[in-house]
Amino acid sequence: MNKYYSNSSNKKNKNYFKIILFFLLGIFFVCTPYHLAAEEIPSNSFLFTENRQMKRPCIILDPAHGGQDKGVVYEDIFEKNITLDIVKRIERLIVERTTFGVFLTREKDEDKSSLDRVTFANDRKATLFLSFHINAHFSPNLNEMQIYINTYSREELKKSHNFKSSWELIQQKHFEQSKELASHIEKAALSSSLWSLITIKKMPLYLLRSIDMPAVLIELGFLSNLKEKEKLKTTEYQQYLASALYDGILTYISSKNEYSTF
Ligand SMILES: [Zn+2]
Repeated sequence: MNKYYSNSSNKKNKNYFKIILFFLLGIFFVCTPYHLAAEEIPSNSFLFTENRQMKRPCIILDPAHGGQDKGVVYEDIFEKNITLDIVKRIERLIVERTTFGVFLTREKDEDKSSLDRVTFANDRKATLFLSFHINAHFSPNLNEMQIYINTYSREELKKSHNFKSSWELIQQKHFEQSKELASHIEKAALSSSLWSLITIKKMPLYLLRSIDMPAVLIELGFLSNLKEKEKLKTTEYQQYLASALYDGILTYISSKNEYSTF
């Protein structure tokens, strides 16, 4: 009995051993290539892509007005067309010189409401929002660049601790960064010598108040100033403006460690 049991046990053990061996070999040959491939190629490339996506800045450029809304009109010059031309030049510089994502709130002459523009930017969870305008004034000599940052009334600021739950107060969360962005644009604009005067203004702005990222609104110049109007019509001057604005965006992004600038 002991012998039989012992023999039978040995046979059973050998069979178990063979089954386990085949099973292990099976796992090795079937799973190893997949395992290596899964670990070494897809996951690494996935991580690489994910890091890039996380760190890659995304810029929203907003050419003001469009479609029925011409903006400021002086003779045959429409604000809506100049803002679009300049914004497309900034977009080209960003695409050619960086790996940043860049989106325009409108690509052509079309109507876009403020809500369309705000939703477009917030949906993309972008890094920055910049809206571009051209101004006019009854004084024909006035000419300056104006950079606007959104602020709220005192009553609204009292509620500002609720900004997380109120879209109308969401820009408050980004106030300091919007100020920094304005300051970088100002420095770049000053060093370009294209503007003799640049002012940063703070006021309640319907467009910016619900933007959930650092945001500025820029008046690039005055069509009511004859000299400025003639310059704004030329592609050379538009390119200079675009280049100065691009420099301001780039220096702001470069000052933040969390973003890749190449
Ligand atoms: Zn405008």
